[in-house]
Amino acid sequence: MWDSPLCVQPLKTKGTGFQGKEARIPMTRQRRATGSRNSARRTASVPKGYRQRRPQRKKQKRKENYIWLAVGCLVLLLLLFTGGRLVLKSLQAEKTARAYLDMEDPLRGAPPLDVELLTVNPYSRPGTPLEEVKYVAIHYTANPGSTAKNNRDYFEGLKDNHSNEVSSHFVVGLEGEIVQCIPTNEISYATNSRNVDTLSIECCHLDETGKFNEATYQSLVELTAYLCNRFGLDIDHVIRHYDVTGKNCPKYYVEHPEAWEQLKKDISAEMEAKRKELE
Ligand SMILES: [Zn+2]
Repeated sequence: MWDSPLCVQPLKTKGTGFQGKEARIPMTRQRRATGSRNSARRTASVPKGYRQRRPQRKKQKRKENYIWLAVGCLVLLLLLFTGGRLVLKSLQAEKTARAYLDMEDPLRGAPPLDVELLTVNPYSRPGTPLEEVKYVAIHYTANPGSTAKNNRDYFEGLKDNHSNEVSSHFVVGLEGEIVQCIPTNEISYATNSRNVDTLSIECCHLDETGKFNEATYQSLVELTAYLCNRFGLDIDHVIRHYDVTGKNCPKYYVEHPEAWEQLKKDISAEMEAKRKELE
């Protein structure tokens, strides 16, 4: 009966409660010691080649990190540079626009204009306010040999014959004359979806090629440069009708992209020259 495990066991458990704690310490140490021995054994069992490659991998990883860091820095610099240029450009345009708007005479720096405004009517001059000028769009009349006055009178006639809904803020003639048909704070019917924020210029031409003659070209350059400076637009905001709808207008400058680029360069140079004149 005394040998019954039921009686003997509690005594043993009671005894090991305290001793257990004591016993655990050396056990842990032992395990650690065993562990380190084991890891030592593991290290010892690692193939020689593997141990030699690890520093190389670290070096490779570091090299990759440096490359990514350099690429990141380059992208950041590029973004800062581009952003900076855009900000400078817009500040300059704003400054010029303010200078023009501050002037008592808003036509200062403008080429000679023959202002012959259309009668307000739903077919060519709806009288809708043009809240903000964002673009200047260039067109050709597609009517070889017609003059600026002919085109202006055609727009005016629409109020009676209702044959079309079309107009333009300005028409540049074959002798370089510029007729203004609509004030710059109202919309015209020339550039489709961009009518709401665009000033339009129709240009006369002598033949089917649609190429502007010297006089028309020169007046167009001066007028566009003046409008860009006055409304704080940079050259990227000078567009063709083609850029809005894909229409072949102004024909010659759609079919000859290099002539269009040259026209923009000439407008840019004129803008710069006018700005210097103003300072
Ligand atoms: Zn057009």
